[in-house]
Amino acid sequence: MNRVSTPQLPEQLELQALCEQAGGHLEQRLLCDVPMGQARLPVHAFVLGSHKAGVPCVGFFGGVHGLERIGAEVVIAYLRSLVMRLPWDDTLHRQLEAMRLVFVPLVNPGGVWLGTRANPNGVDLMRNAPVQARDRVPYLVGGQRISAALPWYRGREGMPMECESAALCGLVEAELLPGPFSVAVDCHSGFGLNDRIWFPYAHTTAPIDHLAELHALCAILDDTLVHHRYVVEPQSRQYLAHGDLWDHLYLSARRRSDSVFLPLTLEMGSWLWVKKNPRQILSRHGIFNPVIEHRQQRVLRRHIGLLDFITRAACSHRRWLPEGSQRDAHRQQALARWYGGTAS
Ligand SMILES: [Zn+2]
Repeated sequence: MNRVSTPQLPEQLELQALCEQAGGHLEQRLLCDVPMGQARLPVHAFVLGSHKAGVPCVGFFGGVHGLERIGAEVVIAYLRSLVMRLPWDDTLHRQLEAMRLVFVPLVNPGGVWLGTRANPNGVDLMRNAPVQARDRVPYLVGGQRISAALPWYRGREGMPMECESAALCGLVEAELLPGPFSVAVDCHSGFGLNDRIWFPYAHTTAPIDHLAELHALCAILDDTLVHHRYVVEPQSRQYLAHGDLWDHLYLSARRRSDSVFLPLTLEMGSWLWVKKNPRQILSRHGIFNPVIEHRQQRVLRRHIGLLDFITRAACSHRRWLPEGSQRDAHRQQALARWYGGTAS
């Protein structure tokens, strides 16, 4: 029998080493195998913490767009810092008894391998969900069904989701949505000068039902990560798109129950890296990733603080989630801040 070759990305080797280091604490789960020519690339999830159904959960995702390698690196860097704390940090163990953390650092390993935004089938996973924008989307960028040879391809109409998108959705539905409170952080790079934290929707300019909860999270972020530079906003303030996986999962969560699911997308602003080092615009990798080592280290360090903040906020959600009149006040402030003061 011919053995199928499995190419190994450096990120995969690092994740294997972390699994060994973590011993029984870190569970590795195979979500799917992505066909790429003769080879197959695995999509793995890594699970840390409580397996109980009723605990809060945070999911960290990277590498959805293969070109944006820094997203995978940020997720792996945070996982590494947690694994290194396991032997000595009691507070981490107490946290992990009360919550679950799941990591999928390489959602699109074929795209990472090929250095492409899309998966090996040419599909942009972030345009692949069965969600149709309600208003006009920008040409191509908003998602297109013309050709896999063009960027932002959604896949053929009526076809099931790509295996990577389906794997991500299955994991979120199994691990995040059943709990009372969950957050997803999906790490990307490439948009603009600032680091942005986007929340749904992408398919409509209407606000989500959990706007008050998002605004309250934003308030403790502002109080805790003093002088942070994140611009927090609904994605619809920048552009609308078809097929957004997080819109799809948020809508799916709303159909299931009243539990709170807040999907966030971290968009690291790479134009600043290009501005500081214009030569890196000459490489495709360089447009989406910091190429100077000290800059890369600074990027990793800064965002690990955000990911750890989100873990703590999820674990302690009962202390800060607004209720009653406080919830109404947060919603009004959020409408004023992001939606011109009106609900649509
Ligand atoms: Zn991206």
